[in-house]
Amino acid sequence: MVGDLFIMANLEFRYGAMNSGKSMALLQMAYNYEENGKKIILVKSVVDTKGGDYLVSRIGPKRKVQIKLSRNESILNNKYLPMIENLDAILVDEAQFLTPKQVEELWYVSKRMNVSIICFGLKTNFKSEFFEGSRRLFELSDKFKELETICHCGVKARFNARMVNGKFITEGEEFVIDGDDKNVKYVPLCGSCYLKEVLKK
Ligand SMILES: [Zn+2]
Repeated sequence: MVGDLFIMANLEFRYGAMNSGKSMALLQMAYNYEENGKKIILVKSVVDTKGGDYLVSRIGPKRKVQIKLSRNESILNNKYLPMIENLDAILVDEAQFLTPKQVEELWYVSKRMNVSIICFGLKTNFKSEFFEGSRRLFELSDKFKELETICHCGVKARFNARMVNGKFITEGEEFVIDGDDKNVKYVPLCGSCYLKEVLKK
């Protein structure tokens, strides 16, 4: 009966704060899949302008992205379906930028097309609230893994504070890419430091 055993592919969310090495972990996973003769593609949202057609990591390695999804685009359209039908896995970078509908489509792909989906992304935005894509990933995923970053005080960082011109801010658009705007940077902080340094409490 073992031959009849059929394990359905998982939707998996690997999340962390900024600088938790998500892109590097994704590139390592892509390498491991291919070492084992598996077929994969890389997907990201067009919201993530960093690296253009490539997924780049802070420490050097990069890799071409096969699908750059617009916010209103379906991964189940005629252009992408032939690319994903016979894959072993789809690796998604900066998955917080997906729409809830796109997350639902990836869930469908894992369950109905038996392609493993591994999403890497942030849990919350600079206001400490869920990205809508991340919320849907928490609702639908089969597996989770937290990637850790350390706050400057030495405790685990859970928050992504946005710094503009050297000052922490709590207002502004949700999607601002640090590489695009030289005045913007993100700082991973623990809860205590986020309260004190960002919310001044
Ligand atoms: Zn701290």
